[in-house]
Amino acid sequence: MRCPSCHSLSSRVVDSRLTPRDDATRRRRECEDCGNRFTTYERVELAPILVVKKGGDRERFDREKLRAGLDVALHRRPVGAEAIEEFLRNVEQRIAERPGAEVNSSELGDWVMAFLRSVDTIAYVRFASVYRAFEDIGELLDEVAALAREDAAGDAARDTEDVD
Ligand SMILES: [Zn+2]
Repeated sequence: MRCPSCHSLSSRVVDSRLTPRDDATRRRRECEDCGNRFTTYERVELAPILVVKKGGDRERFDREKLRAGLDVALHRRPVGAEAIEEFLRNVEQRIAERPGAEVNSSELGDWVMAFLRSVDTIAYVRFASVYRAFEDIGELLDEVAALAREDAAGDAARDTEDVD
C-alpha cells in the first residue's frame, strides 16, 4: 500500500477494526518513511456489477480504478478517505440494486461529477475539464491509470537520483 503523501511502500498497521456494518476491515497505517497516517479498507468481493460502455460493451465495475481516478482528482484536496469510501460503497449498492446489476458509463460519470461537486469544487473542475474530452468514464479512468503509472515511474527515477 503506497503512502498517499510520500508514495513510500513501507507502512505499519497501528489499528485494525471492523466497520460499523461489519462488512469491511478498516486499518490505520503509519508510513515508516514520513510518519503520515492513512486508512485502508479490506472487504469481500461481491457478485460482479457491470458498467455498460457507450458502444454497448459491458465490463466489470472496477472499484480500484474509480478510486484511483478520484485520488488523482482529489490530490492534495481536503477530502478524507472515508468520504471516497462511502461514495464507492454507495455506487456499488446503487448498481447492485438495479436489474442486471449494471449502469451506463455516462450515468456513472454523472454520479462521479455530482460527488466531486458536492465535496470539492476544485476537484470537480479539475475532473470535469478532462472528462469532457473523453468518450466515457471508462476511457478516462484508463488514461488516469496510465498517467499514475508514469508518475510512479518518474518518482522511482527521482528517488534513485536523490540517493547520495
Ligand atoms: Zn509517507
